[in-house]
Amino acid sequence: MGQAAILIYDYRHYIWHNPFMTDSDHQHERTFLSGWIDTHCHLDAAEFDADRDVVIAQAQKAGLSHIVIPAVAASNFGIVAQLAAKTSGAVYALGIHPLYTPQANESDLVTLRAAIAAALSDPRFVAIGEIGLDYFVPELSTPEARQRQEWFYAEQLRLALEFNLPVLLHVRRSQDALLKPLRQIQTKGWNAGGIAHAFNGSRQQADAFISLGFKLGFGGTLTYERSLQIRRLAAELPEASLVLETDAPDIPPAWLHHGRGVNGRNAPHELPRIAESLAALRGWSLEQTMTATSRNAMEVLPRMRVLKEKTAPIPTFPQWGKELQSPPSLGEG
Ligand SMILES: [Zn+2]
Repeated sequence: MGQAAILIYDYRHYIWHNPFMTDSDHQHERTFLSGWIDTHCHLDAAEFDADRDVVIAQAQKAGLSHIVIPAVAASNFGIVAQLAAKTSGAVYALGIHPLYTPQANESDLVTLRAAIAAALSDPRFVAIGEIGLDYFVPELSTPEARQRQEWFYAEQLRLALEFNLPVLLHVRRSQDALLKPLRQIQTKGWNAGGIAHAFNGSRQQADAFISLGFKLGFGGTLTYERSLQIRRLAAELPEASLVLETDAPDIPPAWLHHGRGVNGRNAPHELPRIAESLAALRGWSLEQTMTATSRNAMEVLPRMRVLKEKTAPIPTFPQWGKELQSPPSLGEG
């Protein structure tokens, strides 16, 4: 536990003094891998409105170097971009979440394309997301609602192909339906991969995503001993396929379940403790866990590598930043 405490509370110091690393390793680690990466965190969610600055400070104190903030609807593209711009180490993705497709308009895709084109000059912009398919929420599982989700997903994959950008995928009871159009854009030259966030499929489905260049996101669910399938995958999948996430404020880890903590709200500073579950399952040290998962995140979100703090100008996003309305039912996760 001594090592873990040093790593969490003084991780930069610990990495600098790692005797097994060469000088160029040190330079590399200090530039890119000197911290945990939360690859999926809805830091713009209303749950954080009262104390967002405290949450960000706690995350930085816990050793997070990067937080990926996905958008969910056209109305929050500007919000996630601006939040990333003023938060050290934060980056963002732009996309329309499957749970927000009932209220989305076709014109939101025009807005999305313009937003992506404008954001290409911003190193904080790293992916298209959160997009995907949700066949779990009943209101979204009628034939019409599924068709609408699939249409928005396919249209956003066309943008992923056009700009050859990675995608952050929402996957719920929809693994096979997600994979088919991904294979189609791959045959047309898309090779950017992405992250299947909160992955909860079979080993075979995991392998299919991996063969398409995906990493699989693991978070709070890992911390429940009854999550047998997810824990087995986290233990057995290739090291290069694993990334960590909190999905905060959702998917609270075991110690926040049933309203513990701030109303059971998940937060990015929980990531190192979630990582302890992955470390235990793999038989890794926390340092190995950080190095592997952060390297994997950087590999699949390469734009994050060139992020130079506070040096890039903040792009202007006309028409963005309207009030965000809640989707019909977020369900869980
Ligand atoms: Zn999400």
